Amino acid sequence: MRYNVAQFLMEPVGSQWDFQVNEEAVLETGVKERVQGHLQLTHFNKSIWARAELDVEVDEVCGRCLKSFRQPIHASIDETFQHAVTTKRDEDAGPPEAGNVELFIDESDTLDLREVLRQYLILNHPVKSLCRPDCKGICLFCGSDRNLNQCQCQKQSSDPRWARLVALGSRSGEQP
Ligand SMILES: [Zn+2]
Ligand SMILES: [Zn+2]
Repeated sequence: MRYNVAQFLMEPVGSQWDFQVNEEAVLETGVKERVQGHLQLTHFNKSIWARAELDVEVDEVCGRCLKSFRQPIHASIDETFQHAVTTKRDEDAGPPEAGNVELFIDESDTLDLREVLRQYLILNHPVKSLCRPDCKGICLFCGSDRNLNQCQCQKQSSDPRWARLVALGSRSGEQP
């Protein structure tokens, strides 16, 4: 995820480099994850435009059945990296554009995609993590995994919320 672009910055503006990405990178959790996909760099004036289509799988816990599974996440990266040395020289021109503050090619001409990828993975993370789209989850009453077995609670009523209401109703009916 780190690329030395010293040679690339000497090529004419408009030049493009294409990479196949298939490597392990330490991302958010501190665990190494395999990153696969395609990266294209375009040389702009004093900056590099990076576009990438990357796929990563991370460890997740299913929001319904609470089991661990591998969550695939896709990141479509589209960012511009400024050269740190150039930017320092241009400090008088005013603050850099919001959102691009951290995207620098450092003094050793290294373009580091890891932080950008980390942010894109957070943005593209599903709101609800499910081990599979039709995960049935765990039974509200007995806690058993409904993907594995149909417990007795489910047989008594097709909808557990009704079962709870019925139970409440019969209880109140017993009172004098
Ligand atoms: Zn699940
Ligand atoms: Zn049950």
